Amino acid sequence: MSAAAPSHWLAEIGPIESRAPLEEDLDVDVCIVGAGFTGLWTAYELRRAAPELEIVVLESRYAGFGASGRNGGWVLGELAGSRSHWDRLGGAEAARAMGSAIEDAVGQIEAVIERERIDCGLHRGGTLALACSAPQMRGLRREQAQSLGEPPRLLDAAQAAERVAAAGVRGGLYSPHCARVQPAKLVRALADAVERAGGRLFESTTVSEIEDGVALTPGGRVRAGVVVRATEGYTARMRGLRRALLPMNSAMILTEPLAEAQWSQIGWAGGETVRDGAHRFVYLQRTADGRIAIGGRGVPYRFASRTDREGPVPEQTVGELRARLLSLFPGLAGIGIEAAWHGVLGVSRDWMPAVGLDRARRLAWAGGYVGEGVAAANLAGRTLRDLLLDRDSELTRLPWVRPIELRWPPEPLRYLGAHGIYALYRAADERETRSGRPSALARVADLISGR
Ligand SMILES: Cc1cc2nc3c(=O)[nH]c(=O)nc-3n(C[C@H](O)[C@H](O)[C@H](O)COP(=O)(O)OP(=O)(O)OC[C@H]3O[C@@H](n4cnc5c(N)ncnc54)[C@H](O)[C@@H]3O)c2cc1C
Repeated sequence: MSAAAPSHWLAEIGPIESRAPLEEDLDVDVCIVGAGFTGLWTAYELRRAAPELEIVVLESRYAGFGASGRNGGWVLGELAGSRSHWDRLGGAEAARAMGSAIEDAVGQIEAVIERERIDCGLHRGGTLALACSAPQMRGLRREQAQSLGEPPRLLDAAQAAERVAAAGVRGGLYSPHCARVQPAKLVRALADAVERAGGRLFESTTVSEIEDGVALTPGGRVRAGVVVRATEGYTARMRGLRRALLPMNSAMILTEPLAEAQWSQIGWAGGETVRDGAHRFVYLQRTADGRIAIGGRGVPYRFASRTDREGPVPEQTVGELRARLLSLFPGLAGIGIEAAWHGVLGVSRDWMPAVGLDRARRLAWAGGYVGEGVAAANLAGRTLRDLLLDRDSELTRLPWVRPIELRWPPEPLRYLGAHGIYALYRAADERETRSGRPSALARVADLISGR
């Protein structure tokens, strides 16, 4: 990975040439702040539906610089929040509609990848959660009962191991609603597709403030019918928004390519995305070029919502992820780790995403995906399209159309809370591994966090 690239995925593309910054005042129909998946899907869907609209996207670094160019590449047809959370928010029928809509997003993304001829290692292998202890198995059963969309299929130990031969597996959950991609290739190609559709992108352009349909940047002000805030884990940097979305860290490491003999030991021929059943779970993908990328939380949160995630990943985090990889696949002892990186994702106070439009304030928003935003950002883009075009559609009636109204507590409570919760989950995982029984600490962490 080159020293300058913030992830292996971005480094793999080669040197990135930034588009020109904004250097004048503009009057447009829609101004989108942030060129990650949320901002770009919104621009793409809007321009295709209404080519007469003038749309600009303002990005502080370059398209894909944020979580969209750094993630695990799971295009996951699930959403943060359990069925009972969504039931409480919008009722049972709305929760079901939410579940179908997010499952459908996987196919929608696949269709655009095909239409725009995007080469991003797309593979629809579904997703597999592995339980390595009795409490984890219990957790997977609970997840199955609480799933928002089509319930995933419960697998016994032999069925799970037949897919992926991980050590000590007691069983698993399988859902077909997930695909794997090389995320930076997808987000960079999407930026090009936005331009082909007639949208304009300005990079190296930081928005310092959004107010009443105006986005302020050092090079000029953009006055718009609506400004869309698509800044996810970076939102806390903007004036007045420090407590809206908590920037949560996630880190990844990447192995060298595995030898054929290693793959035949592990299996994993279906190319499913894989995670374990721990409270502090790890997520994995088998990459298109035969490596394993594995990620997890690392240092979960930095004081005062800092987001500077470009320096090296702490050694301890790399060591922990490597140890988790080897505990799943002991046959990989000695495998080389070729890259490590990290990034921030946005977490709303109720741990569920939100999409919305306030016409009076000429402001729209989407985010708070809690680490499940790749497919969700596509659904958010289509939902925002319908909201902005005043269409009354199935999407605009989804229960996630709502304000991000709850606020995180001020510091130092925010820091102590975030670290305390993850310390509890860590302790719960350790106790459950030792005792084989569910730990009440995880329940306490759920209660404190409001999950
Ligand atoms: C390590 C990691 C692994 C993950 N794995 C997965 C996964 O496998 N599957 C999944 O579904 N989700 C995953 N996620 C989450 C997922 O990547 C995000 O939810 C998704 O990419 C969010 O897209 P976004 O466009 O909303 O935000 P981002 O991609 O973060 O984009 C926000 C953009 O806004 C720009 N910006 C910020 N502030 C300003 C400003 N003031 N002015 C102008 N521009 C600004 C940033 O530079 C950035 O490019 C992961 C996240 C991380 C960090």
